[in-house]
Amino acid sequence: MTHPTIGTSERPVRVAIIGSGPSGFFAADALLKQSQVHVSVDIIDRLPTPYGLVRYGVAPDHQKIKSVTKLYEKTCNDPRVRFIGNVHFGTDLTHEEVRRFYDAVIYAVGASADRSLGIPGEDLSGSLSATEFVAWYNGHPDYATLDPDLSVEDVAVIGMGNVAVDVTRILAKSVDELRETDIADHALDLLAESKVKTITMVGRRGPAQAKFTTKELRELGELRNADINVQAQDLELDPVSEASLEGNPALAKNIEVLRGFAQQERTDKPRCVHLRFFESPVALLGEMRVEGLRVERNRLEDRGGYLSAVGTGEVETLPIGMILRSVGYRGTPLKGVPFDARKSVIPNQSGRVTDSESEVIRGEYVAGWIKRGPSGVIGTNKADAMESVRLLLEDVPALEPVSEHAASPRAVEGILASNQVPYVTFEDWLEIDKLETQAGAAQGRPRVKITQVERMVAR
Ligand code: NAP
Repeated sequence: MTHPTIGTSERPVRVAIIGSGPSGFFAADALLKQSQVHVSVDIIDRLPTPYGLVRYGVAPDHQKIKSVTKLYEKTCNDPRVRFIGNVHFGTDLTHEEVRRFYDAVIYAVGASADRSLGIPGEDLSGSLSATEFVAWYNGHPDYATLDPDLSVEDVAVIGMGNVAVDVTRILAKSVDELRETDIADHALDLLAESKVKTITMVGRRGPAQAKFTTKELRELGELRNADINVQAQDLELDPVSEASLEGNPALAKNIEVLRGFAQQERTDKPRCVHLRFFESPVALLGEMRVEGLRVERNRLEDRGGYLSAVGTGEVETLPIGMILRSVGYRGTPLKGVPFDARKSVIPNQSGRVTDSESEVIRGEYVAGWIKRGPSGVIGTNKADAMESVRLLLEDVPALEPVSEHAASPRAVEGILASNQVPYVTFEDWLEIDKLETQAGAAQGRPRVKITQVERMVAR
């Protein structure tokens, strides 16, 4: 059987991008900006709202970062692109169906699950992951009913990354500061009643190994509602850590900022953020709910250039009423798609999906966190997605084109309609967006988020 030529204006390459977060949009943009072949792209998301972690991950008080959606909006306004939301890959549209309707598919679903600590007491009430806490305050429909108990005074945040800094900052800010943001109304209501007084970030290694970036760290020292506290002795660096500052200005800046924090006097601000280094959580204590956190003091051991945290046996119990694990995100498998359970990513060679024998699967690609793991900032996904798209374009002559009938953009709408999937289009999203921003404008806020899928779909 001879295959039709694809990539012409009459028969563009049909590409499905699964996931409409930054990596999905950067992949779409890379497909549009090349001139090798004609393309027709569908960006498919399980939620009715596009932009993934930009909407549901980026902190509500970091509105500037969210302005990247203006670029994504431009992408969606290109006639070669469609957004199809409220479609669950694997159920509403199966892997087999995607392969039947698209010449190529790019998985860009991110890494939405959390990682656990594997310590006793982790399933007590009051023990949450930062992942779910972030999704809750950002109005993610799956977490709208999380209702964390903020009647406690002392919260511990485990981890020293930017997500830990985000949740700490949100807990530390006053409700008046948060009211200016697009934080979900349900979160604003609970945070308005918050009794939290101390937020303690706990890092298993030292300040030179912390993952946060300087801009985010600095914000912790500029909180109107909270003091910052760091123990000066935690900032005395071992020789290997000291050497790591050489030629790493960002890291050296972090240490300088932390040393500044250590010199700040306690004032009468109602809350306090504590940073504790060299401590690993070893148990959560309590009968029904978290009442304490047992930590073990660590020392650093050089293991082939990587400074590892090693317990010293010295333990301490901190009175803590809520704990937020912020130790990284984790990818989850997609039905019908290979998955590397050890790395929690879709196995791939620079973006080409591979099977259990490490053989490349023709026509399947991956981009973003589900390709490389949860690291980097939004912009990191651009080069990552471009690499995957470059390989896809290289592969076009070898792709197996779908049938002429299936290649029609209307065909996939037909199957969604016959599967009775209430999918939404980009125009539908723009209406949701308008409702949210109008409601926000009335309150002097960027938007008031709709947090129920039913309400978004039933407008
Ligand atoms: P991350 O940067 O990888 O930080 C995870 C933290 O958890 C590290 O301090 C890590 O310590 C610690 N950790 C891991 N396992 C642990 C364990 N078993 N016990 C104790 N501590 C443990 O992850 P993230 O904060 O989730 O952020 C994910 C990505 O999103 C990052 O690239 C981040 O920069 C980005 N992000 C950016 C922004 C922004 O630009 N404003 C905001 C949010 C997130 P070790 O180093 O010892 O492993």
